[in-house]
Amino acid sequence: MSKRDYYEVLGLDKDASVDDIKKAYRKLARKYHPDVNSEEGAEEKFKEVKEAYDTLSDPQKKSNYDRFGHADPNQGFGGAGGGAGDFGGFGDIFDMFFGGGRRDPNAPRQGADLQYTMTLTFKEAAFGKETEIEIPREEECQTCDGSGAKPGTNPETCTKCGGTGQLNIEQNTPFGRVVNRRACDRCQGSGQMIKEKCTTCGGRGTIKRNKKINITVPAGVDYGQQVRVAGEGEAGVNGGPPGDLFVVFNVQSHEFFERDGDDVYCEMPLTFAQAALGDEIEVPTLRGKVKLKIPAGTQTGTNFRLRGKGIANVHGRGQGDQHVKVQVITPKKLDERQKELIREFSELSGDDQVEEQHQNFFEKVKRAFKGD
Ligand SMILES: [Zn+2]
Ligand SMILES: [Zn+2]
Repeated sequence: MSKRDYYEVLGLDKDASVDDIKKAYRKLARKYHPDVNSEEGAEEKFKEVKEAYDTLSDPQKKSNYDRFGHADPNQGFGGAGGGAGDFGGFGDIFDMFFGGGRRDPNAPRQGADLQYTMTLTFKEAAFGKETEIEIPREEECQTCDGSGAKPGTNPETCTKCGGTGQLNIEQNTPFGRVVNRRACDRCQGSGQMIKEKCTTCGGRGTIKRNKKINITVPAGVDYGQQVRVAGEGEAGVNGGPPGDLFVVFNVQSHEFFERDGDDVYCEMPLTFAQAALGDEIEVPTLRGKVKLKIPAGTQTGTNFRLRGKGIANVHGRGQGDQHVKVQVITPKKLDERQKELIREFSELSGDDQVEEQHQNFFEKVKRAFKGD
């Protein structure tokens, strides 16, 4: 038997939205789920529906299916569904759509995590710092201790849903009895009724406040890295723990230093005389200037390494290096006397004066001019 088209299985057009797919699946899953439908063939139907849904609800699988159909080489034979007989209990279908935590609205829930982006200068990132930030966040209302009820009163259990926040609506269909669960309309799924609302928070139990928090920026932190400040996120619900605060770092560039991991890179200008005769120059580092010996005959583009002059590793694993690349600067403005000396120098250094290691280079250039 050839496999039916997944869209056909769910009774949908190819351009069905994510919502359409969910709705169609819910409807059909309820109809054919073996817990509610004992008719012959219902189980097969349910498996077929589940397989279609598993594929079409996964963007990657859906796009493969849209392109290749059942012939998708990436998809094992009949691989989208679970093994035979492997379907969760009836309640699982609802958990999927309502979220497990929603089943008991009075259960403690952790507060949401917060993210804060902190921009650091190049040096702040290298050395770290102590700083204070101010973030707006939901905090437990002090007036009502988070209950949302006016002090002296208590939230009451919702009489319509008995505090569960959900209503089970039973329906008899030609295929069997179906239980349809939805959020209680009286308490909006909270399971509680607040007769007199706390005037400070308007019954929400939390209020938005700007909170000052001390942040320790570790030395050596880099762009995109983050630190977690436990418990400084949004307040929890129903006595649940607060969420966490994540501080994500953005690091500004520097006009002289560049960074790659823990290593620092910079360029230093050399005069022609310094490069030819050698010299000792001063190089700025993150911790002040250091002396660097330039050997006679240094070429432009040569790299020197200053060990341990880079950035401290953020995980405490040593210290990076500083790499210094020298650029020999060709003079632009020369007076007559200087020009004369350079001409004289040039005459003295004919072809045979070109250093051995550069002979090959000059030869290559000559051959290129000849068109070889
Ligand atoms: Zn209710
Ligand atoms: Zn309050």
